[in-house]
Amino acid sequence: MPLNFLFVNPPIYDFTAYDFWLKPYGLLKVAGALKGNKIYYFNFLGEKYKKKIKEDGRGNFIKTKVQKPQSLSDIPKPYFRYGAPKEEFENFIKGIKSLDAIFITSSMTYWYNGIKEVIEQVRRNHKYAKIFLGGIYATLMFEHANNLEVDLAVKGSDLTPLENVLGIKLKEKLADWSLEKGSGSGVITISRGCPFSCSYCAIKEIEKGFSFKEEILVEKEFQSLFLAKIKNVAFYDDALLYNFHKGLEKVLKIVKGREFLFHTPNGLNAKFLTKEVARTLKEANFKNLFLSLESVDDGFLEESGNKVNRDDFLNALENLFSAGFGKESISAYILLGHPDIGEESIKDSILFLKNLGIKPYLAEFSPIPETRDSYKCEKYGSLKEPLNHNKVAFSIRVLGLKKYQKLKSLARLKE
Ligand code: SF4
Repeated sequence: MPLNFLFVNPPIYDFTAYDFWLKPYGLLKVAGALKGNKIYYFNFLGEKYKKKIKEDGRGNFIKTKVQKPQSLSDIPKPYFRYGAPKEEFENFIKGIKSLDAIFITSSMTYWYNGIKEVIEQVRRNHKYAKIFLGGIYATLMFEHANNLEVDLAVKGSDLTPLENVLGIKLKEKLADWSLEKGSGSGVITISRGCPFSCSYCAIKEIEKGFSFKEEILVEKEFQSLFLAKIKNVAFYDDALLYNFHKGLEKVLKIVKGREFLFHTPNGLNAKFLTKEVARTLKEANFKNLFLSLESVDDGFLEESGNKVNRDDFLNALENLFSAGFGKESISAYILLGHPDIGEESIKDSILFLKNLGIKPYLAEFSPIPETRDSYKCEKYGSLKEPLNHNKVAFSIRVLGLKKYQKLKSLARLKE
């Protein structure tokens, strides 16, 4: 007999939040694996709860100012709740007669107050339904997540514990985009994990190795996006260009002619941006490219994992320009707030990009327990408390508010 399941992407509590192609990909995959049951879906960060949506699918969420949690009281910035109003969710779940289980996803570790809010609401209205929590917060802060009122927190992508509790064998984990029909954007991955091992990154806690997904699975997901009339597709891969001929090139051949517009929010590794790769990306309708630079400090780049250097970056730019990409379509990420990168160094990185005519995109650093750099971060606040991983709070604690704001303004400044 089909069961009644509810899938929820919770609201965000933060100083800032922007829909940078944020979609609950893992949640949609679990929903896809439970097709055949009665599925209810509530995305607090869905299209209805956005304003000013760009053509490429990005946009601002609606927000309400809320009280800052005590552990962030030293940060002199307003704090908000982003996403659908509480009452709307309350009415939605009151309209559901009975539920067997509720699946909640999580992303940033420091957004867990949004999950708590959802749990409280569903517990009040559906006392007997089981609550399952998965996603990045549940994986990286497993013990913390287990202390929330959930029946099961799932660590990583192995769903065997979930199958055991449900007593159901899950089908293929194929994202069900019909739940996001007509959405401004969708997301996909063609691989799992990352071949690099940067000192500040938690990827190995989420996925140990690197592998490509089965081609047929990727093809079916593109078909699901196509049927849901989703045009903008962001790749969530951490190493999208790695082993290009075995990975992305094959995928682009499969979707040729489907008229998707592609985006790369996770930052492309310049090392792999050869002339041929740049040409292929241009032909395949990649619009605005985000490259990872992180810093122009050679010492930092080497010590943190050597994933890219200044020469790689300059070569990549040359290849992109010769493939026909304009400067205005390229941005590059610079790390802000890492304890090993001082104000002068960040300034150098911003100016390096500006001199090249490339837009700097400051990516505030979020410290994660168990990473190689985490011990350097503890002195700015205990990492056992996920709110201390907040990227804005951590960057301000490392740099001080004045320097933080000065660097943000410098990056924004138009020449
Ligand atoms: S390349 Fe990116 S995803 Fe891979 S380890 Fe480094 S920071 Fe993490």
